[in-house]
Amino acid sequence: MATSVAPRVFKNFINGEWVESRSGKAYENRNPANTDELVGMFVSSTSEDVDAAVDAAKEAYKKWRLVPAPKRAEILFRAAELLVQRKEEYSKDMTREMGKVLAETRGDVQEAIDMTYYMAGEGRRLFGQTTPSELPNKFAMSVRQSIGVCGMITPWNFPMAIPSWKMTPALISGNTVVLKPAEDTPLSSYHLVQVLAEAGIPPGVVNIVSGDGPGAGAPLAASEDVPVVSFTGSTAVGRLIAQACAPTFKHCSLEMGGKNIIVVMDDANLDLAVDGAVWGGFGTTGQRCTAASRVAVHKSIYHEFVSRFVDRVKALRVGNGLDSATDMGPCINEQQLKTVMDYVEIGKNEGAKLLTGGNRLDSGIHLKGWFHAPTIFGDCSPQMRIAQEEIFGPVVSVIPIDSFEQGIEVANGVPYGLSASIYTRNVNQAFAATRDLYTGIVYVNAPTIGAETHLPFGGTKQTGNGHREAAIAAIDFFSEWKTIYIDYSDKLQRAQIDNN
Ligand code: ADP
Repeated sequence: MATSVAPRVFKNFINGEWVESRSGKAYENRNPANTDELVGMFVSSTSEDVDAAVDAAKEAYKKWRLVPAPKRAEILFRAAELLVQRKEEYSKDMTREMGKVLAETRGDVQEAIDMTYYMAGEGRRLFGQTTPSELPNKFAMSVRQSIGVCGMITPWNFPMAIPSWKMTPALISGNTVVLKPAEDTPLSSYHLVQVLAEAGIPPGVVNIVSGDGPGAGAPLAASEDVPVVSFTGSTAVGRLIAQACAPTFKHCSLEMGGKNIIVVMDDANLDLAVDGAVWGGFGTTGQRCTAASRVAVHKSIYHEFVSRFVDRVKALRVGNGLDSATDMGPCINEQQLKTVMDYVEIGKNEGAKLLTGGNRLDSGIHLKGWFHAPTIFGDCSPQMRIAQEEIFGPVVSVIPIDSFEQGIEVANGVPYGLSASIYTRNVNQAFAATRDLYTGIVYVNAPTIGAETHLPFGGTKQTGNGHREAAIAAIDFFSEWKTIYIDYSDKLQRAQIDNN
């Protein structure tokens, strides 16, 4: 049975019950700001556990798809209300398992609240179209239909928001769900499942299995009974997921890397641009797929911008996200910290100018965590690896540019296309940028981060595979169109042939 008191060993939620893994094993979830702190133990699921969850979801689908969408919405609405009540508790738990500062984990839970209310509202819409038939006495319409069991594999950087982006549109559309959360941050995903259970989601409609990617994620993506897979994470794993989906043409939505940019033009409000670069580059310790890891700055203001940017970043306080004095938390784990340190070496070897940071922080308050100093490289060329590859950490590469045209060229000159931003007070330039930046998201006079739930989210090129999350775009992914013709003429009418 679902309980509101979190057990120390968190089990899987399958068919409405918290159950052990068949493996009999569990792994530790530790605080990245203080590895002495054990947040909880989570079971290490196997393909058998995944199969049990998929079977439950498949069985539950038979009834759930027939529940009227406004009734499904009432459950989501209640879940959102519970999230509102528990926002502070869940935010603190999220900071303990993920490391980002409390203001940001509150934002993460708020995003789940916003998305859940939004999708609850969709329960009374889910609009299709009616349109005249080309033939007399014939009616034509399109309706959305549900698809079945949706497998969801999620990352650790938005541990409640991202599962909510995937689960709530899937559920309102009449599908059932098996979620495999990131191994580093399962607790926040459990909290989301917990409120859905308490809000009255029927057994089997939502299931969660914890564990690692190859052990629990891979069997979920490959399961024959899972026709829809939604993944957010690394490009390398996204490719594996796409391959697992290809043989049976599963619907597959992939959200992967980014190498986002802020372009600062010579007429920009410099204080505003510096604010944006600090928040965009170092918010969430740079561990957002939309993080502004590149800043392209017009040469005529380059030195002024860089000096202000460096001063601000030097003053950032790095520490435990629960401490209200902290501006930036740790990296998520040892591996991610090592990746950041490797890229710092790469940047130095490529000849980029280290302007601040560049080192691990591992003494005093940083002794027990995976901390890295906020780092800026200047005088970068657009082709350097630190200016091309996703680092997913607190490292920003500043690139001098000569013109607007070069800014757009640099912005578009990476394999990814998630988010881009321009700071300018020239309205012509701003509009030209919104047209020519080939990304899924563009900001004017705001940094690359800060997506809102009622607008599509996703990227071009190797960021994704053409789908979008959030907003109605998410409903488009989690439902299929069914076109219905009703002929009430009582005779055979042939489209394209009898209509002239
Ligand atoms: P990150 O770099 O953000 O950790 P990953 O792509 O490694 O990104 O992980 C994102 C999600 O994908 C996690 O839930 C992880 O467990 C899962 N995952 C990792 N490897 C696989 C795999 N081979 N098959 C399915 N899922 C996987």
